[in-house]
Amino acid sequence: MDDTRGGDNETCTFCGKSRYKVSSLISGPPGVNICNECIEICNTILVEENRKQALATSDAPPLSRDNIPTPARINAYLDDYVVGQVLAKRVLSVAVHNHYKRLFHQTDSVHSAVELEKSNVLLIGPTGSGKTLLARTLARFLDVPFAIGDATSLTEAGYVGEDVENLLLKLLQAADFNLERAQKGIVFIDEIDKVGRTNQNVSITRDVSGEGVQQALLKMLEGTVANVPPQGGRKHPEQQYIALDTTNILFICGGTFVGLEEIVGRRIGRSMIGFDGGEASVINVETEEGVRNAELLRQSDCDDLVHYGMIPELLGRLPVVTVLDPLSQDDLVHVMTQPKNAIVRQFQRFFEMDSGKLAFSEEALTEIAKQAMKRKTGVRALRAIIEELLLNTMYQLPDARDSREFIITAPMVRGEKPIRARRLRKKVSKKKPA
Ligand code: ADP
Repeated sequence: MDDTRGGDNETCTFCGKSRYKVSSLISGPPGVNICNECIEICNTILVEENRKQALATSDAPPLSRDNIPTPARINAYLDDYVVGQVLAKRVLSVAVHNHYKRLFHQTDSVHSAVELEKSNVLLIGPTGSGKTLLARTLARFLDVPFAIGDATSLTEAGYVGEDVENLLLKLLQAADFNLERAQKGIVFIDEIDKVGRTNQNVSITRDVSGEGVQQALLKMLEGTVANVPPQGGRKHPEQQYIALDTTNILFICGGTFVGLEEIVGRRIGRSMIGFDGGEASVINVETEEGVRNAELLRQSDCDDLVHYGMIPELLGRLPVVTVLDPLSQDDLVHVMTQPKNAIVRQFQRFFEMDSGKLAFSEEALTEIAKQAMKRKTGVRALRAIIEELLLNTMYQLPDARDSREFIITAPMVRGEKPIRARRLRKKVSKKKPA
């Protein structure tokens, strides 16, 4: 390389190497030079410093043996971002606390007689109820790398699709290829219910039976040293692999398990009749369908999940099971306003950027929640409804010459009245006068 500016005798002021021993030597003020190697070292130091600073200013201190957050602290953090799901948050807080306790204390001689087993988690709940959000929020709080994968895109090695190891590659990437950090991360595997055993469909290119995928996941969940292809894609013999130990990775699996409530209902119905010989009705048909289903799901056990198509060995590696409730209309109103990054706050921020003000009346929020409930996609519908509602306003606002206030009311949400603005004052012009 010949982009140096120093003279022939110049050396690096930091490491003392002469310009002939390095590929680049950059000169500053007279007599001050730095070589490419020292620049790289400085850069690494700065990146690490930035990481530490980010950690110092984040909500949680770095995770360490002496600093495992208590379940109550984990729960309080989850409360800031996840509405409702009281039981799931509590179960997860305890599971995560125990997971990291096990991880940091596994070398203790005092406790070594008792082997602490890993507490991977299974989250059962309808789409849009917060399964992914819970896993992601946990990872952010603990400042551990986080990866999301979809069980339906995975296949048993040899079939067309993604290898299970690619999930671990995502985790490595999230950890900037820091192996030690990756090995303490969290992996969320969605749609685990879709790889249930089924005798339908036969395919030679895809393992549609799902059992092969479950077997492959099983190894990863129980702890193995996986060979991760650093380039991703399918494995091939010449490739160099990264050996990643999954023993301390926390796996959180999620699934909607549509129809599981029927299996539970049948079992409970049967066993109740078998128990007292009467016609005990355990399902209160008067209650709303969603609530009833959630109640049934809460009573699901391992046998029901096996019945559903999960292999018992995999369930054995998911000892913590919890059920998320479908969000109610009131929950949806809270989702819009309460979390730290609530949707309404996000839109208000957009408006502020154009010197605008945005507010919603209580009735407007209730109306939006009501419309979202009808769409049956949980919270996902909320954003879509607000986007549609504010589309024209957001189209015009950046060109407005004055700052404006918008108060959204229920008739506006129903489309019965147009959205009108109240003029506040002239926008401050950024241009200098001619
Ligand atoms: P799931 O994984 O259960 O299908 P997600 O966690 O992906 O659902 O949620 C979809 C969207 O809805 C995300 O934007 C998430 O932030 C929001 N959301 C879902 N449930 C909740 C909740 N309980 N509290 C706050 N936001 C939620």
